Amino acid sequence: MYRSHTCGELRESDINTKVTLSGWVQKTRDKGFVVWVDLRDRYGITQLVFDEDRTSSKLLEQARSLGREYVVQVTGEVIERTSKNPNIPTGGIEVLVEEVILLNKSKTPPFTIENETDGGEDLRMKYRYLDIRRNPVKNNLIFRSKVSMEVRKYLSDHSFVEVETPYLIKSTPEGARDFVVPSRMNEGQFYALPQSPQTFKQLLMVGGMDKYFQIVKCFRDEDLRADRQPEFTQIDCEMAFVEQEDILDTFEGLTKHLLKEIKGVEISAFPRITYDDAMRIYGNDKPDIRFGMEFGELNAVTQHKDFGVFNSAELVVGIAVPGGASYTRKELDALVNWVKRPQVGAKGMVYVKYNEDGSFKSTVDKFYDQEDLAKWAEITEAKPGDLICVLSGDANKTRTQLSALRMELAERLGLRNPNEFAPLWVIDFPLLELDEETGNYHAMHHPFTSPKPGQLELLETDPGAVRANAYDLVLNGNEIGGGSIRIHDREVQSTMFKHLGFTPEEAQAQFGFLMDAFQYGAPPHGGIAFGLDRLVSILGGQETIRDFIAFPKNNSGRDVMIDAPAAIDQEQLNELKLKLDIEA
Ligand code: ASP
Repeated sequence: MYRSHTCGELRESDINTKVTLSGWVQKTRDKGFVVWVDLRDRYGITQLVFDEDRTSSKLLEQARSLGREYVVQVTGEVIERTSKNPNIPTGGIEVLVEEVILLNKSKTPPFTIENETDGGEDLRMKYRYLDIRRNPVKNNLIFRSKVSMEVRKYLSDHSFVEVETPYLIKSTPEGARDFVVPSRMNEGQFYALPQSPQTFKQLLMVGGMDKYFQIVKCFRDEDLRADRQPEFTQIDCEMAFVEQEDILDTFEGLTKHLLKEIKGVEISAFPRITYDDAMRIYGNDKPDIRFGMEFGELNAVTQHKDFGVFNSAELVVGIAVPGGASYTRKELDALVNWVKRPQVGAKGMVYVKYNEDGSFKSTVDKFYDQEDLAKWAEITEAKPGDLICVLSGDANKTRTQLSALRMELAERLGLRNPNEFAPLWVIDFPLLELDEETGNYHAMHHPFTSPKPGQLELLETDPGAVRANAYDLVLNGNEIGGGSIRIHDREVQSTMFKHLGFTPEEAQAQFGFLMDAFQYGAPPHGGIAFGLDRLVSILGGQETIRDFIAFPKNNSGRDVMIDAPAAIDQEQLNELKLKLDIEA
């Protein structure tokens, strides 16, 4: 028996008990006549004591020889500590050691295994197994497990069945590139790893499973943006005989369950906003509604004067920044430069100080009088003491730029409180999205999403105007889930493919299996998928999803611990009949 208790378990009520513990040596303090060792395992830290009066000199010597991260088993008696440590649960006791068994030695770890470590990101990733011994990482993984358990609990309580779908499949169109796997047995052919189990979960509905879920890995070969992982986890769900309302209801329930069980917060009905309104009011289809700073459209109150920049703009739009009237000239210049950075891309910014005395001072006083500026304040809901920031130009671009500014300022002003949770549904997404570069339309969600009733005809005349039965669940400015009611009719699905630029042959070759299945009594169905990594990190009140993944990849998609991806040897290439065409 390696242990009778864990290192986080013993209390003053255990005094006089004989115990055996196993764990890692966190630290040794040698005072000469007495040696203390902090022994750590997943559950906590227990102090071990060896002293001249009560411990043999051999044992004392043995204690002194223990290095950091040595793995030991100790047996001894629980005694009361003379100087108690109120900061840890075991702080009232220590174990007077009678026997030490060295289970394994350790090299000196490359960074300190403590809450605050001296190890940089790269080093911690290379030795991730040591990083996982640290409380912050360990606790995040335990937290993630707890969230997954609650998800399983809620969904199975609501009659969902967890079904596994294959990883070696054919392309699923979620808009990214596929990772591919060569098939040795089928020369020259490749599997694709699923970007999601989308087609399979729909086939499960045709198969009559009625309610499906899976906590599942998905793979997308995208150019890595910050905090994206090439493999990530979804809570993937599908239901038959449902309308949008049923899905929103069920998964609002799941989200509430998680917020209540995990965070202890109760939230009433989630607000809903259409995609168009989200774009108009927040310039963003995943608005953070923990704070206001809503957009005020100013065309009508700006385009009647001689200010050419505004007059030629498709959209003039502003936000009120709480307390911003007190910004110094230097701070304001910095803000203008911030919106002009290539990442944001604004050409410039007009601003108005709404002074505490009710007067206005703007960068465009030459064109606009106090009465004009008062109207801007009214529309942006600015109060005395605020700053009004105004951008103008092409409507879509300007909205995106102002949204970036809104989020940045909210961050700086501390308005994005990680302990506040503001979920909402964004509904009525466009079915199609215009690719600016190619001029082609592609599915905004995916090609299996159904258009809103009665809008199929619009596909011919005004494809961009067609709205979909598609919805996103947004939490604190992040999309945590998205889904749609699907097409379940073969004819409609082929029309959809036609509009997406597939020839009938291409559609049949890629998705014939699904369209064939639709001919055998496919029920109306729909679903949603949540990004588990992101959901867990938001619930955990942290920004980066990497911190909640046991073995994440870095920003270049590499696992630096196992050193993957890596070249494969010639023999393996030969077996796969693959020839590489790259310079060595
Ligand atoms: N498969 C979709 C996705 O990965 C989710 C869904 O439509 O259910 O975004």
